[in-house]
Amino acid sequence: MARDLVFILGDQLDPGNPALAATDPSRARVLMVETKGEAGHVWSHKQRITAFLSAMRHRARRLAGEGWDVEYRGLDEELGSLSAGLEAAVARCRPDRVLVVQPGEWRVEHALRSTCGRLDLPLAVFPDAHFYATREEFAAWARGKKRLVMEFFYREMRRRHDVLMDGDQPEGGRWNFDTENRGAFGRKGPPELPVRTGFEPDAVTRGVMADVERHFPDHPGRLDDFRWPVTPEDARAALDRFIDERLPLFGRYQDAMWEGEPFLYHALIAQALNLKLLDPRQVVDAAVGAYRAGRAPLAATEGFVRQVLGWREFVRGIYWLHMPGYAGLNHFGHDLPLPDFFWNAETDLNCLKQVIGDTLEHGYAHHIQRLMVVGNFALIAGLLPQAVCDWFLAVYVDAVEWVELPNTLGMALHGDGGIVGSKPYAASGAYIRRMSNYCDGCRFDPGSRSGENACPFNFLYWDFLARHRDAFSANPRMALAVKNLDRLDD
Ligand code: SF4
Repeated sequence: MARDLVFILGDQLDPGNPALAATDPSRARVLMVETKGEAGHVWSHKQRITAFLSAMRHRARRLAGEGWDVEYRGLDEELGSLSAGLEAAVARCRPDRVLVVQPGEWRVEHALRSTCGRLDLPLAVFPDAHFYATREEFAAWARGKKRLVMEFFYREMRRRHDVLMDGDQPEGGRWNFDTENRGAFGRKGPPELPVRTGFEPDAVTRGVMADVERHFPDHPGRLDDFRWPVTPEDARAALDRFIDERLPLFGRYQDAMWEGEPFLYHALIAQALNLKLLDPRQVVDAAVGAYRAGRAPLAATEGFVRQVLGWREFVRGIYWLHMPGYAGLNHFGHDLPLPDFFWNAETDLNCLKQVIGDTLEHGYAHHIQRLMVVGNFALIAGLLPQAVCDWFLAVYVDAVEWVELPNTLGMALHGDGGIVGSKPYAASGAYIRRMSNYCDGCRFDPGSRSGENACPFNFLYWDFLARHRDAFSANPRMALAVKNLDRLDD
């Protein structure tokens, strides 16, 4: 009988998993469980489910090859939940204790603690070594602060981990090069684009794809162009390709959008990072190494490092600081359901048609598409934040709740009332026109805010400001918008 039962969840696939490091193959059994409940608790994209399960099956094979006794429960066993899988494994191997790394989702951690409590079994929960900052370190940084500002957290992380530093000063004399990172493509469109980094599905992945088609036939998305990394080696190759081919232009065009080009100069590694096939230190070191070797400009490197070392760590800290109440926040009291076009991309608003179309096709859209097109629409139209969050969690291949929720509820929807951002990211059609070519192929006029052909982003934007005018007039960062609103006639 194994004395330790190590439970490895689907987003805990790092070779340095601390729960494994705390025991050894002679006294432990490793448990990994696929459940329809986890894959389907939001209406997940088929590529998202495939990425998780394929990476899990690859990891299980490797652990078995390293001598671990692995109990792997697949979808066909119809286990309803992770707790049911754990309970069944405990009944079989009667361990002295269960070991797990802190889950990425409050709901899962709560369920595992309840299950072990009910079974009267000790549960050892290990801090997640994948992140630069532990939950406790973030909480200590946040303590006593009136407002949590990402930029200050990021500077602290740069100093603490000596990233892009020149002594005690930031490399290049500035902490932030965002002003150089907001370029649009202009009429000619993107300069030459590298081919998307992709990985041909192997036999394991093809087996998962067949299972997903069988178990989740009605879920959104297709699998015929599944190309995501599912092993640490593929993930490293994806990182290297990004650094070599796209990082130099990543910064300048990170906010730009172009019809038919969902990938542009983006890294396409968030899914690998969030399943922990890649370590953020590898990622940051590779980018900084390219800059030091003269292969990437400082502005692009700093902008990229800020996403990984700053923003990613910051939103995880916010999530754990404010859960479980955070998920239910609805600052504006918005309550409209998602329009059907969120699930089929059939809409006359060309920007939404393109971005949701890219999303349903690839399980991917880049951050400005998510924030300033889909998120912005959901905000100004007044969609129910929890429905929007479920959609974002379901359709993006890289989505795990700790990162999805603060980004969607907080940053995109301002549903947390300002915990993540000091003002709503609301914008009219002018922003989308400036940063993309979507308006060229649209039946609406981005220059009009009323009348038959007026861009809906325009009248929804002004309507949003008008609905919340009194609250916004107390926010200095919204003063200009309110002043412009007051200039409009009825
Ligand atoms: Fe989107 Fe408005 Fe532009 Fe159409 S005109 S693509 S709805 S921003």
